[in-house]
Amino acid sequence: MIYRINSEINKKLQSVYNTALRELNEFYGIHWVRNLPRLIIVNDRKDIDALFGRKTESWVIGWSENNNVYVLDKAKFSKESDHKQYSDEEYAMLIKHEMSHSFSSILAGGNIKPNWLWEGLAIYTSGQNVMHTRPTEFKKFLEYFDKGGKGVYSEAGFVVQILVEKYGKQKVLDLIKVSSTFKAEDKFRQFFKKSFSFDPIYEEFNKLLSDRPTAE
Ligand SMILES: [Zn+2]
Repeated sequence: MIYRINSEINKKLQSVYNTALRELNEFYGIHWVRNLPRLIIVNDRKDIDALFGRKTESWVIGWSENNNVYVLDKAKFSKESDHKQYSDEEYAMLIKHEMSHSFSSILAGGNIKPNWLWEGLAIYTSGQNVMHTRPTEFKKFLEYFDKGGKGVYSEAGFVVQILVEKYGKQKVLDLIKVSSTFKAEDKFRQFFKKSFSFDPIYEEFNKLLSDRPTAE
């Protein structure tokens, strides 16, 4: 497949990109200055499918591949996806979400497992938790160790938020750094328990959910 790329000057998106880059460098403790992520705006579903190499679900509106970050053109959301039209703020969070994946991949030196940690980190660091209702109970994110899917997005960002708030960012970053070595779920569980002193099961995560002060 052949693609034709046009570069463009877009002051509004450049400023969104610059802010995200600065804030993500700060969060991840990385000083990324060369071969910076490239933001690629994709025109429609047909091009998303062609770049993916398969038919994609209508909720797929962005992804990252090493230092290339792809997002669907904001003007095409209602026509080319099942998302409502995003506000500028929501679109900025989407771009930051995808850029966050590029940062976490660098830190991990490979593919992050579990998948809920990979997505939760991107949701939390991009501020997208405001787009989801805070769950009263965690009951599905643990299904997403290897598998992906729309269902991972509702809880994962809150799990990561709680871990960062209760245990500090560094402990979460230390988990990310070894997360590409967790080929099997029991290896993840062992490391997690040693590091956070509790078993990564719903019951324990739900205790943390209910302890947390209600102020956002
Ligand atoms: Zn993501």
